[in-house]
Amino acid sequence: MSSFLSAAKSFRETTMATADDKHYRAKITKRVDLAPELWMIRIDPGAEFKFTPGQYATLGVEGEDKRSERPYSIASSPYENEIEFFFELVPNGELTPKIYSLKTGDEVLMRKASKGRFTLDTVSGRKNHLLVCTVTGVAPYVSFVRTLYKDWNEGRFKGEHKLFLLNGASRSWEFGYVEELQRYAQEVPWFKYVPTVSRPWDDAEWTGEVGRVDELIRKYSDAWGVNAQNGVGYLCGHPEMIEHGKGILKRIGFTKEFLREEIYWIPSKETVTTQ
Ligand SMILES: Cc1cc2nc3c(=O)[nH]c(=O)nc-3n(C[C@H](O)[C@H](O)[C@H](O)COP(=O)(O)OP(=O)(O)OC[C@H]3O[C@@H](n4cnc5c(N)ncnc54)[C@H](O)[C@@H]3O)c2cc1C
Repeated sequence: MSSFLSAAKSFRETTMATADDKHYRAKITKRVDLAPELWMIRIDPGAEFKFTPGQYATLGVEGEDKRSERPYSIASSPYENEIEFFFELVPNGELTPKIYSLKTGDEVLMRKASKGRFTLDTVSGRKNHLLVCTVTGVAPYVSFVRTLYKDWNEGRFKGEHKLFLLNGASRSWEFGYVEELQRYAQEVPWFKYVPTVSRPWDDAEWTGEVGRVDELIRKYSDAWGVNAQNGVGYLCGHPEMIEHGKGILKRIGFTKEFLREEIYWIPSKETVTTQ
């Protein structure tokens, strides 16, 4: 009897371990809807999840016949207990409508290993980091800034690296983290933040910068003194913005070595996109 029970137990442990070998069943602890198709969640993976700011996690939902998984940049800092993500709904997409239907208390699958190389360059010796993004592409930069902000407050970071963030969206309600980022920018000398709206005619109350974020790279890199000799350029989010932004940075002398990109999707031929 006892050997049967222990055999059954070990079988159950093996099958459960195999099913969950690569994934955590993470619990959604918070959900905030920021705009009609943009939302943020925080999850508790229930066990250790190691990552470096700028990396992504692979999230998934079990469907009736298959599991859908996609990469998502992590917006939280490794110093936080929970992991945070910023999503955009792709109405006909495979996964985002499923994640969109989840609420606080529900579970989402998360691969146990973080991935990605879109991290802050602290080894080349360059100290000026020009961070450019569209909408949800702000997530890795939020992780950079939250982490450095804590290091700064606790004396581990002296402000030797400077972060310059250009955040693009069609309308101001798509920014997601504007208040938090403006607060850091007011408080610390090592962070500058400019949100810009590309469709101000749809957003009459917006009084900030206007124009597509890639078209402002030249203006702000000059104003901030970030150049091909002292800077590293980062581009994250919309594929067309990344293509244009990279072209602009290359024309002002940035070489491949000092350019990093995180392209969120490959546009299909029929897709007409806006920023
Ligand atoms: C490293 C990395 C990090 C990422 N981080 C984030 C993140 O933080 N937040 C986030 O929301 N997404 C992020 N993405 C995109 C994400 O992985 C999915 O591609 C996206 O959520 C769409 O998934 P889906 O299954 O709903 O759509 P799919 O079924 O994969 O796509 C359907 C169609 O929509 C197109 N498409 C996909 N995404 C978009 C979009 N946003 N706008 C317009 N068309 C699109 C695809 O090219 C495809 O033609 C990231 C992608 C990568 C590679």
